[in-house]
Amino acid sequence: MESYKIYSEVTSGSGAGRPLMVKRTFAKEITLVKAVGRGRFGEVWMAKWRGGFVAVKIFYSIEEASWRRETEIYETTLMRHENILGYIASDIMGSQSVTQLYLVTDYHEFGSLYDYLQGQYCDKFDMIRLALSAASGLAYLHAEIVGKQGKPAIAHRDIKSRNILVKRDKTCCIGDLGLAVRYDSEKDTVDIAPNKRVGTKRYMAPEVLNDTLNTAKFEDIKRADVYSFGLVLWEICICSVINVEHHLPYWDKVPQDPGFEIMKEVVVLQNTRPPIYDVWIRDAHMRVIGQVLSECWHQSAPARLTALRIKKNLAKLDIEMKKSQPII
Ligand code: ADP
Ligand code: MG
Ligand code: MG
Repeated sequence: MESYKIYSEVTSGSGAGRPLMVKRTFAKEITLVKAVGRGRFGEVWMAKWRGGFVAVKIFYSIEEASWRRETEIYETTLMRHENILGYIASDIMGSQSVTQLYLVTDYHEFGSLYDYLQGQYCDKFDMIRLALSAASGLAYLHAEIVGKQGKPAIAHRDIKSRNILVKRDKTCCIGDLGLAVRYDSEKDTVDIAPNKRVGTKRYMAPEVLNDTLNTAKFEDIKRADVYSFGLVLWEICICSVINVEHHLPYWDKVPQDPGFEIMKEVVVLQNTRPPIYDVWIRDAHMRVIGQVLSECWHQSAPARLTALRIKKNLAKLDIEMKKSQPII
């Protein structure tokens, strides 16, 4: 679906940042159907719009800055990519007393990768499809496209299976761009002052947990994404292990909603990572994915693969797997 430029007339939003001009008609065409997700800033609904379905992320009005920021990221030039959640529009809904902020995107009925993987058995081919498509999304996000109509490099800063969606064709797209930051390579600056320890603690890289990430170096912010991505790859792989349920990384080491201290203890001090299973080592293809994921979550950030390298390694494996598949 094409995205709509609706910031043209009528009213301006209040609150922080530049005034956002919003035409108050788009949201009125939308009928909310059912709630499908809940996050930090509000709710996500499946909704009807012009004969099809869309997803509407509704922000509480006190979260206007978050809504504005996520909108701004989605409206970055060249943000459309098959492995990035497709943005449609943002709008303000409601009267002066009750305001709701809408961020409208493509709707994906399988929901998040986390939801999809629950109780799911994946064979090697399912796994590589999910892994390669998610890696392509991250590589695209991280890449700078040079030129007048170019795209800045973007770091996500909250990579996890709940922020990745599964499309009908069982490929992934990356969503929840609310914490993302953009890099201006000419000025060598990041577009907002990146407060250091944002994201989800369970998925935080060691250098984020112990507060040593140098946020002035954009390369380092991207490397923290790669660590989190390694954990997501592990979650995808675990669905190939018979008799093992889907687990969040460190499920056996930390409680639900863990704090900094316990995460630091496990990830930084003990240098623990989720288990690599025997079956991944015995199978030549699985071994490659196992190798990739362990090169993502290195304690030393510069030793990690780049998102582009992850994508290339997985693409090569995908080709090899297809070649080795018996022709029926
Ligand atoms: P938050 O910023 O509040 O975490 P997210 O954008 O991550 O919000 O969305 C929260 C949850 O809503 C996701 O984990 C997913 O389950 C569901 N969701 C989000 N976007 C979509 C979508 N486009 N299609 C289907 N489900 C979605
Ligand atoms: Mg989220
Ligand atoms: Mg968010």
